[in-house]
Amino acid sequence: MLIGVKNADEYLSEFVNEVKELAENGFAYKNKLYSVGIRCFIMDAPARSFVLGIKGHSGYYSCTRCLQKGEMVKNRVAFLKIGMDPHRDNNSFRSRSQPEHHNKKDLTVLEILSIDIVKQVGLDYMHIVCLGVVRTLLKSWVKKKGEPYSLTSWKIGELSSELKNLKKSCPYEFSRKSRSLDELDRFKATELRQFLLYYGPFVLKPILSEKRYEHFLNLSLAIRILLNSNCSLADIKMAQNLLIDF
Ligand SMILES: [Zn+2]
Repeated sequence: MLIGVKNADEYLSEFVNEVKELAENGFAYKNKLYSVGIRCFIMDAPARSFVLGIKGHSGYYSCTRCLQKGEMVKNRVAFLKIGMDPHRDNNSFRSRSQPEHHNKKDLTVLEILSIDIVKQVGLDYMHIVCLGVVRTLLKSWVKKKGEPYSLTSWKIGELSSELKNLKKSCPYEFSRKSRSLDELDRFKATELRQFLLYYGPFVLKPILSEKRYEHFLNLSLAIRILLNSNCSLADIKMAQNLLIDF
């Protein structure tokens, strides 16, 4: 959507002005006035940094949720302190209290709207979890050789044939049937999601050591909880603890 666009403010200004107008005055249709509001904006990491005018996700001050400075670990910026640094919030964002986080001193286009610029710009689960963490886990088990977490070719073969067998049992609600790990590079987000939530807990049990299997279950269970639209505050706390363990 943003390919070739150089200026996010220019690109979004017409949309933002229209939303602002609708949020302030509502939308009239057949003698009835409907109120209009923004629930959230969802973007992948490059689009988020582009639209919000903030450091890219590999920057030291790029965390959109807290103020900690990242550390370089194996050529990547990692945020290792969980829950210790002050949270980034709407006020600290809008007042540019941490200038290193921002590429723009001036107001960015979304800040014209009266939204919580931190909480209402979501972290996108499709890229971060499905195409991110789940794919990284699978690739490190299957494609890396000689690491403590690498799987033997026998186990990779077992896992692949289990996934191929499951194809026959996939319910029709699943948009894609499970397939062999030979095709891992071509797995779509929805297949990685199915692996995380449905096949993984089942097919990995005989393949991974107990410790690694539990590690995987932490992520699987946490995401399953968070995907439930009726989850309670206690459920969210539990999912948070599982993710911290993970
Ligand atoms: Zn953070």
